[in-house]
Parts: sequence; C-alpha cells; structure tokens
Amino acid sequence: MSESPFFIGVDIGRTIRAALVDETGRVWLQSRILAERTDPRAFLMQVIAVLRALRDSEIARGRIAAIGIGWPGLVGRQTQRIELASHLVDVTGCDVYGEVRAALGVPLVFENEANAAAYGEWTCGVARGLRDVFYVTIGTGIGAALILDGRLQRGAHGFAGEFGHVKVEPGGIECGCGGRGCLETIASGPNIVRRVRERLFSDPAFSLSPLATQMEGTLTVPLIVQAALDGDELARTVLRETGRYFGMAIANVLNLLDVEMVCLGGPVMLAGEILLDAVRKEARKHTLRVIFERCRFTSSALGQDAGIIGAAMLARDAVAAMALP
Ligand SMILES: [Zn+2]
Repeated sequence: MSESPFFIGVDIGRTIRAALVDETGRVWLQSRILAERTDPRAFLMQVIAVLRALRDSEIARGRIAAIGIGWPGLVGRQTQRIELASHLVDVTGCDVYGEVRAALGVPLVFENEANAAAYGEWTCGVARGLRDVFYVTIGTGIGAALILDGRLQRGAHGFAGEFGHVKVEPGGIECGCGGRGCLETIASGPNIVRRVRERLFSDPAFSLSPLATQMEGTLTVPLIVQAALDGDELARTVLRETGRYFGMAIANVLNLLDVEMVCLGGPVMLAGEILLDAVRKEARKHTLRVIFERCRFTSSALGQDAGIIGAAMLARDAVAAMALP
C-alpha cells in the first residue's frame, strides 16, 4: 500500500453511522442509515452493505487498512462476541465478528461504543494528551469509558464502564438490566422525555409550557433542549435535575479514581452548558475538594463524530500494534 491508508469507523445505534477516516482522524466520507430493529440477519446485512459501500468508494479503493466498530452493548474482550446488546436488535446469537470479517476481508476491531467515543476524544478531541479521563455518553442509553494512566481500561472481560447501571435511587424504577434505580432509568434520553411528560400532566405550574402542545410520541430530547434554550422552565428544571443525578454519580467516580478530566458526550449533550453546569455544581458538593479542583468538566469536542473517529483510530492503533488477525 504505497498511498496513505484509510480506516472505516462505525458507530452503531438507532442509526448506523460509518465513515472513511484517514490516519490523522480526518473524516473523508460519511454514510448513515436507520438500523433494522427486529431481524438480526437483516441488520447484519445492513452493516455489511454500509461497509462495502465505503470500502468500494473511489477514494478508498484498495486503501482500507482496517475497520473499527463501536457497539451499544458488551463486547467480549477475548471472544469478540456481542454478549449483551442494549438498545439494538439482539445479535448475541450471531457470529457478527466472523461474518463481517469474512465479508469484508479486512482486519476488524470491535469495541463498546462509549469506549470508541472516548478513544476519539482522547486521540483527536478535547482529551488529547491527557492520561486520566472519565468519559460519559448520554443518549438512548448511558455508557462510560475510563482512560487511566494513558490506557483505555476495559476490565477483566471487556465490560468495564457500565455507568448507566450505577444505582442512584434505591428501590427506584426497574431497569432493562433487571435492577432498580439505575442512573439510566432517570437520566437517559428516553427517560428525560418521560419525566418531562409526567411533569406536564402532573404539575399545574408547567401546564403552559410550549412542550404541552407536543402530541404523544412526538416529544423528543432535541425539542426539550430547544425549549430549555428558549427559557422554558419545565425543560430547564428537568435538565438541571438530570445534571444533578449525573453529578452525584460522577462524584463517586472522582473520589475513587481522581481523573483530570470528565468529558460528557452523546446526543443529549446538545443541551450543552445547561446540563454541564448542573453536573459540575452537584459533583462539587460530593467530591473531595482537592480532587474536584484539579478536574476539568467539559463537553465532547467531536460531538456526533466521536464514535466513528474513535472506532477508526482504534482500528489504526490495533494495526500499528499488529494486534489484529
Ligand atoms: Zn440497569
């Protein structure tokens, strides 16, 4: 390969986002499609089709060195199997790695999506050059990644960072994981929408909120964020409450790990400063002062591209380390 190589980075969620990325992390070409939600075979064919289209694009032909894919769920470190698929069609029965590898004929790396996004921020974004970072992604689910002592930490089996299942409300709402009172049951995108809707109908103070005109099923996080930016008290109240739950949970992590940066990303971070400010204020209350004062709280710099860039950079670095079959 005489020309410089390309990598394909993929971020799997409700949308499959994929991009052609060069070795510096620059995105050259992107594609996205809505993910199939019921049939695992159809979903797998979608992923393969998206990858083939990028591989065969004029600019990339013959230059794809490796592919990285970030998954919303638990990816076995030794097995490369999707061992738990959250907010995704259930592919745990498929040999996804084997099939994609065989269909594309290119080295492949699988990673948890929060780890991939954190890797993007760490190699090309706001956390570049740091050694100890806690990254949180807030979307349909809540995930997190730990970079400690200059390395992405995956845990013994690859499952570290399941921050959405940290307990914040004993005896609270039942979570998809089977537990109760998980952070995700309060602070994920769909649960922010649920809490706004509940308050609209239960609290007369908010009945005049413009959000009340949204029909059942059409209320979304972007609408709530826009309402908050326009000064709507209900939207601001719910986002600030959300930030408080995150702040308390993050304070526990800070006291435990003493990181130098907390980075918040994912689609809900459209809310920007409203959420970040509430997180910071609450974390300050619960974190040892000497730790809090040395930690910077920030939003993701790469935004929606963190996952695709990070997945591509994981592929790049795995090739460099000759860690791929
Ligand atoms: Zn849970």
